[in-house]
Amino acid sequence: MSKQIDNAIEWGCARCAHISETPKLDAELLLAHCLGKPRSYLYSWPEQQLAQDDWQHYQALIARRQEPTPVAYLLGEREFFSLTLNTAPTALVPRPETELLVETTLAICSGQATVDLLELGTGTGAIAIAVKVHHPAINLFATDISSESLDLARQNADLHSVTIDWIESDWFSQIDGPFDMIVSNPPYIPATDPALKQGDLPAEPLIALSPGETGLEALELIIMQAPAYLKPGGYLLLEHGFDQAAEVASLMREHGFINIDCKLDLNGLPRVSLGQLL
Ligand code: GLN
Repeated sequence: MSKQIDNAIEWGCARCAHISETPKLDAELLLAHCLGKPRSYLYSWPEQQLAQDDWQHYQALIARRQEPTPVAYLLGEREFFSLTLNTAPTALVPRPETELLVETTLAICSGQATVDLLELGTGTGAIAIAVKVHHPAINLFATDISSESLDLARQNADLHSVTIDWIESDWFSQIDGPFDMIVSNPPYIPATDPALKQGDLPAEPLIALSPGETGLEALELIIMQAPAYLKPGGYLLLEHGFDQAAEVASLMREHGFINIDCKLDLNGLPRVSLGQLL
């Protein structure tokens, strides 16, 4: 027997409560998706009876959410920097805290006519696309090791009508410099961190989350190699774990960066570090 909208939300919320920090929001997003309506529709018509096939579709999505599969993979999209981006299990779901990397990049670029910018490990293309949409004059190059992720990123760029040079590359292996800026949100969770086994993380590509035992392997590789691909005075901007700022700063100092700074994310945690090549 199908239910009315408000009862269906309550039903879904109860089922997601143990796997999600936002069970009501998850239930609402999945139900609105099944109905092909915005979330506001659910509040306008709480007593509307669901059609049998919508109810069945919703039950199937709630069952997948309970696995757990991230809501962004079930919907096939996620909002990032006010842009709707397609998502797929080949790439990390764009995170709200990563918007800080985009904001910091745009702040540095503002007022500069031409900037050659390289993004490493683009995944959905979120960072590169958000930067290019807001500063179209930037020459943007973005890499990923996964051709599937690059296909997804290309789709997202088309969706927002921006042109970016996509390069299949293991970090710098296929890259020619030099650039004015290099930005990256590399994998940074230590392989031993129990968080990797919790919540939605097991459903996301491990290669995008964890670089190895210490969590610093990719950050270190990028900081070591970036100077060879940056113009003098060029910037390196990196997202990292909340407890990795001191190590990132000392690696940057060791490899010739100056004016090192760290920005706090929405939760007040150190999240983005930047430095300028001497
Ligand atoms: N910030 C992400 C998380 O904690 C990790 C992203 C990353 O490793 N770059 O889920």
